[in-house]
Amino acid sequence: MAAFERARLRIPGGVNSPVRAFAAVGGSPPFLVRGEGCRVTDIDGRELVDCVGAYGPLILGHRDPAVVRALREQLDRGTALGGPTEAETELAERITLAMPAVEMVRLVSSGTEAAMSCVRLARAATGRDRILMFDGGYHGHSDALLAQAGSGVATLGIPGSPGVPAAVVQDTLVLPYNDLDRALGVFAREGERIAAVLVEPVAGNMGVVAPRPGFLEGLRRVATAFGTLLVFDEVITGFRVGPGGGQERFGVRPDLTCLGKIIGGGLPIGAYGGRRDLMEQIAPAGPVYQAGTLSGHPLAVAAGLATLARLADPPDPYPRLEALGARLAAGLEAAAGALGVPLTVNRVGSMLTPYFAAAPVTDHATARRSDRDRFAAVHRGWLARGVYWPPSPFEAGFLSLAHGEAAVDQVVDAFATALAGSREPAAEGPETAGAILQPSDP
Ligand SMILES: *Cc1c(COP(=O)(O)O)cnc(C)c1O
Repeated sequence: MAAFERARLRIPGGVNSPVRAFAAVGGSPPFLVRGEGCRVTDIDGRELVDCVGAYGPLILGHRDPAVVRALREQLDRGTALGGPTEAETELAERITLAMPAVEMVRLVSSGTEAAMSCVRLARAATGRDRILMFDGGYHGHSDALLAQAGSGVATLGIPGSPGVPAAVVQDTLVLPYNDLDRALGVFAREGERIAAVLVEPVAGNMGVVAPRPGFLEGLRRVATAFGTLLVFDEVITGFRVGPGGGQERFGVRPDLTCLGKIIGGGLPIGAYGGRRDLMEQIAPAGPVYQAGTLSGHPLAVAAGLATLARLADPPDPYPRLEALGARLAAGLEAAAGALGVPLTVNRVGSMLTPYFAAAPVTDHATARRSDRDRFAAVHRGWLARGVYWPPSPFEAGFLSLAHGEAAVDQVVDAFATALAGSREPAAEGPETAGAILQPSDP
C-alpha cells in the first residue's frame, strides 16, 4: 500500500500511535479520509462500518451536527486564546454534575497526562510513593505507569518499555485484575506505603473485562482502611458505560477520577478530578505542580460540551447504546455458535470484545489465552467485508448513537462470513485457508 510505505519512511511504523499499524492482525491499515455517522471512508473510496470510534471518543459517531456546529462557532471566535474561558468552567460543571465524586476538575490534553497527574497528586497528598495497578490495565504512557508485572511472587513492577528506568517503576506494584485476595494480601503487607490504587472500573485495554462483583467495592474498603487513595481511570468508561461512568454503574465512589476521550468530543483532551480537599492541592491553589500550554483548549472544550450536552438530552441515550451493544454481542455469539467456534464476548454497555476463547475472560492471563491467530484471520475477513474493527484482540470495539440496527447487523453478517472463511485449513480450500491463516508481516 503506497500510503503506508510513504508514511513509514517518515513516521515510526507509519503511524502516530502503535495499534494503528495493524501489527497484531497483519496487512496494511486503511488510510482514512473522512468519517460520517457510523462510517469511515478510506483513500480508495471504500466505506467501512466504524467500530473503532477513534478508540473511544466518538460516542455520537462522526460529525455529529451539534459537535460540528459548536466547533464552527468556536472557530469563528478563535482557537487558543491564552486565558481562561467560561466554557472551561461549564465543562467542569457538567463533569461534576454527572459524577458526584468529582468535586473539582483540572483539564489537560490527554488521558496520559490525567493519569500521570493523579499519581503525582496522590503521592503528594499521602506522602507515600507506592502505586498499585493491575496487569493488562493501561493508564497512558508515562514512565511510572508503563510497568508490567514481575515474574513469580514479586509484585514490584518492571519497566514496560526500554527507556523506562527500573528506579521509576520500582514503586509500581502490578497485580492481576479482578484478584481482590492478592490485593488484600499486598495491603496487609505494605498498605501504609501505598499512595494510590489505580484501576479501570471496566478494563478496556486488554479487551473488555468487567469487574467481578465485589472487586471494586473491596478495593474501596481496603483503600479507605489504609489511607490509600482510590483512583478510577475512567478515560474510556467516563460517559461511555453510563452518564456517571463506571463509578455510577457499579456504585463505588473513588477519591480521584481520570477522564479523557468522550469529554473532548473527538478532539485531544484529558481531565482529572475528585475530592475538593485533594484537588485544592493542585497549583496554583496548592503546591502540587501541573500545567499545560493548550490545556482546556477552546476547540476541545466546545466539542466536549456539545457531546456531553447531547448525552444529557432526553430521551436518555444510554438504553439505546445498551440495546445496540446487546444486539451486537448476541449476533457475534450466535454466528460463532452456528459454526461451533468457541467465542466469549465481554461487553459493558456499548464497549465490547469478542475473544476466541471457550473459558471466561476475567483478567490479562485469560485474555491472552484466546486464539489470536483466529482473531487476526477474522479481522482481515471483517475488513474485506466492510467492517473497521480495532486491529487487536485486546482492544474494545465501540458503538455509537450513529449506529443503527442495520449497521450492527452488517457487522454481524460480515463477522459470520469472515469466521466461516477462517476455519481450520482442512475445512477450506488449501490456498485460501493458508493465505487467511498466515498472519502477514506488516
Ligand atoms: C486511552 C486511555 C488512556 C490514555 O489516554 P490518551 O489520551 O491516549 O493519552 C488512559 N487510560 C485509559 C483507561 C485509556 O483507555
